[in-house]
Amino acid sequence: MDKTDIKNLSKDGLVSALKSAGAEAYRAKQVFRWLYASGARSFDGMSDLPDGLRHKLKGIFHITRLTMLDSRKSKADGTTKYLLKLEDANAIEAVFLPEEDRASVCLSTQVGCRFACAFCASAPFGFIRNLKASEILDEVLFVRADNPRARITNLVFMGIGEPLDNYDNLLKAIRILNDPDAFNIGARRMTISTCGIIPGMKKLEREALQVELSVSLHSADEEVRSKLVPINNKYPLKELIPACREYTGNTGRVITFEYILIKGANASRGDALKLAKLLKGINCKVNTIACNKVSMKGYAEPSSADIRVFVRTLRDNGINVNHRKPRGEDIDAGCGQLRISRYRTLSE
Ligand code: SF4
Repeated sequence: MDKTDIKNLSKDGLVSALKSAGAEAYRAKQVFRWLYASGARSFDGMSDLPDGLRHKLKGIFHITRLTMLDSRKSKADGTTKYLLKLEDANAIEAVFLPEEDRASVCLSTQVGCRFACAFCASAPFGFIRNLKASEILDEVLFVRADNPRARITNLVFMGIGEPLDNYDNLLKAIRILNDPDAFNIGARRMTISTCGIIPGMKKLEREALQVELSVSLHSADEEVRSKLVPINNKYPLKELIPACREYTGNTGRVITFEYILIKGANASRGDALKLAKLLKGINCKVNTIACNKVSMKGYAEPSSADIRVFVRTLRDNGINVNHRKPRGEDIDAGCGQLRISRYRTLSE
């Protein structure tokens, strides 16, 4: 009989599984603490569980773990990118982003991605599979273990994959990350980044969870956005923006729009005016970043002067905008430039 992946169980699921194994419900709390607060990799060290129960659990459950294939640490800012191997030998990335007194982690939610955004390093590999909740949690456990002195306070679901395309596993993982007996990370310190999956946004809106939502916008023009973010053909701006408006209205939360500035595509003063008009009245902020010509082949970075005009035009039109410099540029511009820079913004 295959063993059950214990970290893929919700807390209630673990209570039921333990009950079936003849253990009292309160044991779930203890096991949760061992698995997530302590990062236990086996049942042997769970010293407050009776020997008999530990033995039983070993026979029923499996504790997954990730192994490191590669890592790169930025000399400039300590950003560390990990290439991690899943138990089925697929690989994902996680990124550790240290600040002075705290740190963020950027997490993958799928192996590959089906959405093929024009600028994304994950896109050419296509979609392989969803990550299980246990695998998402393992990313956090791995990064935390590798940076034992860091205080991880923020999580951003902005790595490989579209989080809202793996909704149930994502939400299961978020609930465990938020659980005081597990990671105890505040929901407001977790950000889900979507390319604009409207049904997922609507589902999220109805959850009693204070997570942050970030939408990759990149253009206020339907045609341009469809080229950069092809899911725009299915969920166009004319539906996405009202959905965002409704999201902020119903949740009372600010929505963040991500915008990569690309020379000749979306970075003119006219583009900024169009964007300001599109977002008028939405409780939002805009994060801009210049594209990186190394990682985004075929695209060019606008001049500093053009960037200044773009940002100023948004501000002059009442949009709350932050322009960010990328982090970790020296570790792998070909893969992480976009995401790494955005993670930093979202952790602030
Ligand atoms: S940007 Fe996100 S949604 Fe778009 S292809 Fe890359 S991983 Fe997928």
